[in-house]
Amino acid sequence: MKKYLTVLMVGLIVAMFASIFTAVIYYTGDKVEQLGTTQQETGQTDASKTQNESSAKEASANKEETVTWTKSDTVIEFPILMYHHIADVVDGNTLYVPKAEFQMEMAALKEAGYYTLSPEEAYRVLTQNEKPAEKIVWVTLDDGYVDNYNSAVPVLTELGMKATINVITGIQDGVEWLANPQLLELKKNALISIESHTVDHVDLSQQTYDGQLAQLTDSRQTINQLLNQDTSVICYPSGRYNDETASVAAQAGYKLGLTTDPGLASSENGLFALNRVRIAYGHSKESFLNQIGNY
Ligand SMILES: [Zn+2]
Repeated sequence: MKKYLTVLMVGLIVAMFASIFTAVIYYTGDKVEQLGTTQQETGQTDASKTQNESSAKEASANKEETVTWTKSDTVIEFPILMYHHIADVVDGNTLYVPKAEFQMEMAALKEAGYYTLSPEEAYRVLTQNEKPAEKIVWVTLDDGYVDNYNSAVPVLTELGMKATINVITGIQDGVEWLANPQLLELKKNALISIESHTVDHVDLSQQTYDGQLAQLTDSRQTINQLLNQDTSVICYPSGRYNDETASVAAQAGYKLGLTTDPGLASSENGLFALNRVRIAYGHSKESFLNQIGNY
């Protein structure tokens, strides 16, 4: 009996030391990771200050400084909002939200504590299963309309919120669709990302593999060259894609693909078949927040 008790005591002491040791290692590792992040972000802030960029850029950099990413035990799901025109009325097109409504909706998101994601941050959420805030959202605007530049961007800049504009590289007139000078101007705003919506807004599901590859590769190269960036998101025109589209997109160099399939986005969708939440016109603040919450 005495022997048995001694063994038990020794076992308990060993287990105690082992758990203290593990906790110390874990804590130290965590600290080191946080330190690394802080240093990197401080570097970014200094760089943007010396560049003397717009206040939006500094505001965004400062905001990122305080961000702490937290891993989740369950698969993270979040809304990717889909907008098109930001305008009071658009003839022959129901895909619009008036500027006042867009302003109300963005303010509602901010008030509710939502953190707006950049494409890079969305990729991190989807691949690392960690997030920079409890509530996250990715705001996307399709087709690259000039009204996005005139109406959506000022609202987003004022509120310090990020959004992604998906442009059709073969359709540019500077009047209805954003042209290069406007895209170059938008590139200076750290809150706004420009990604691809193909060259001609074709139905990808009806294209051959090579046809899809040309649309995805050409549009990506055009944007990369113009804006000196590594374009990572392909937004499928009218949300249409087929079984080959994901591999085409990966071959063309994209990391994420956006659909119009309704629902919350998560890694379970597949990185090239992400769900989105279509925001129509006519919402009140309550119905807007409900729509996001109901998914
Ligand atoms: Zn479109």
